Amino acid sequence: MSKENELLASVSDVSTESEFFSPIPKGYKKGKTRYVFVMGTVMSGLGKGIFSSCMAKLLQDKGLKVAPIKLEGYLNVDSGTLNPFRHGEVFVLDDGMECDMDLGTYERLLDQDLSKANFATSGQIFSAVLNKERHGDYLGRDVQMIPHVTGEVKLKLRELAMKSKADVVFVEIGGTVGDLENAYFIEATRELAYEEGPGSCCFVALTYILEPKTLGEQKSKAAQLGIKQLMQCGVQPDIIACRAGSPVNEKARQKISIYSNVPFERVISLPDSASIYMIPAMLRENGLDFQVIRMLKIEDRINLQKERREWGKWCDFTEKMEKMDRQVTIGITGKYITVRDSYASIINALEHAGIALGCKESIKWIDTTDVDDSNVAEALEGVDGIIVPGGFGTRGTEGKIACVKYARENKMPYLGLCFGFQMAVIEFARNVCGLKNANSTEIKPKCSEPVIDILPEQKEIEGLGGNMRLGGHDIDLKPQTLAWKIFGKKDSVRMRFRHRYEVDPKYIETLEEKGLIFSGKAPNLPIMQILELKDHPFFMGTQAHPCLTSRPLRPQPMFVGLVAAALQRHYPDEKLPDCEKAVQAVK
Ligand code: GLN
Repeated sequence: MSKENELLASVSDVSTESEFFSPIPKGYKKGKTRYVFVMGTVMSGLGKGIFSSCMAKLLQDKGLKVAPIKLEGYLNVDSGTLNPFRHGEVFVLDDGMECDMDLGTYERLLDQDLSKANFATSGQIFSAVLNKERHGDYLGRDVQMIPHVTGEVKLKLRELAMKSKADVVFVEIGGTVGDLENAYFIEATRELAYEEGPGSCCFVALTYILEPKTLGEQKSKAAQLGIKQLMQCGVQPDIIACRAGSPVNEKARQKISIYSNVPFERVISLPDSASIYMIPAMLRENGLDFQVIRMLKIEDRINLQKERREWGKWCDFTEKMEKMDRQVTIGITGKYITVRDSYASIINALEHAGIALGCKESIKWIDTTDVDDSNVAEALEGVDGIIVPGGFGTRGTEGKIACVKYARENKMPYLGLCFGFQMAVIEFARNVCGLKNANSTEIKPKCSEPVIDILPEQKEIEGLGGNMRLGGHDIDLKPQTLAWKIFGKKDSVRMRFRHRYEVDPKYIETLEEKGLIFSGKAPNLPIMQILELKDHPFFMGTQAHPCLTSRPLRPQPMFVGLVAAALQRHYPDEKLPDCEKAVQAVK
């Protein structure tokens, strides 16, 4: 048989003789995994990711295995090339996938490491379909949005179900119902629910209740129309979560219930909350966890003892949030200072550390474009500790270096993240080692002392988006250093990376001779990954992005160290524990 005929034979049952086309992974058992689909109407930015992760957390606490996935409408294959100013931070997973910041919310709430199986974009879906078309997988058929593109979406969801062995897969559809971009995702979920059979899927629609100031009352029409639009797509929601500035009244909920066939008790009010960590309790009070469990008929899979334990831990954490009686100010230098979303993980990591230490942080954003040695003290006024976060390009770099110098000389707690690590190396080389022209070749390509240079392995890879060192890597820790101590005296830790440049190994000796301690290194490669200084309350930099792996109940030690040192600086008379003791106490 010719190659072509062979292919034809293998797909003929799905491509020519039947209208049914739904690629199913080998070994997949229908009905084993349940699905919850979360979509938004009226507008974007309703917090679908937050809702979905909080629901998933409530089910996970009950002993169920959950797996989230975000479906993004855009055509980029990953988020690596997106500008954080437009789209929020690029979140990097352990396997190197660059994805939407919502994946960070899932990882934090579920305390679970995710992978590329948990993230799909239209770019990925269409690439997969086009590759299959060229490969001859659809021979005999015209390749169509339905069933082929929707088939690819269903395949991705079922693959996740199999790989994760989840009891429940939570599917968040990016964008808003009515967007051209995500219409085929909604269609795919409708098809999946039809194929999996009754009781296997639960559709949640998030909507928004308007409350115009001039009227002074809540208006549900936009929500009703949004839900109607969803129903026109063939999707009957099972739960409607009404987002609003204040609690949604019964009248508005009744109207929505009548209009949408959704029982009143499943039309819930979800007003804005001061912290996303309060939302699991809100959903629980509404009884939504058991509504979903009953709808999906998985009562027999839950473990109420486990739930009591897990919920107790969570409540201890949220209670601590209410008892934060101290306050410190952390300065963050940044290019994207107008958009908090660009630094979401850092803000979260600071919050986790603060809650553990009973202290609130106010953040002072520092635009370093016009900062230099003459005015840096003024720029850092009132700051108890400083973070120089990740960054690219040249803008504001001299100002960042001035901030590092100030922190080093004035014993101000300092944490340098990725770019901030590189800035600390440049500052030390210039001002302690006397290498006046020290710089990074990213900033000054022809500089005479390139202490930071492009990674040799990256020089060979061309093309934007494809030449970064990405994802989780192990870091060997040097015994007796501060890093070694705050990481619990372990030999090695794992952190996530996203960089192209590194310390040029030929400068390591000079830097170390003058007192810079490289306390973390890549195993088997001369890549410096953590630095610190002696005789300083807290001065640490890392080539990694430790903020990506900070979790509410497991705050990241570097952030705990920074906040503890900032607390000591702010409350000098209170004899507070130093960074090392504070990290130990948190464990
Ligand atoms: N621009 C630097 C590099 O590519 C730092 C990257 C970052 O901060 N994420 O190495």
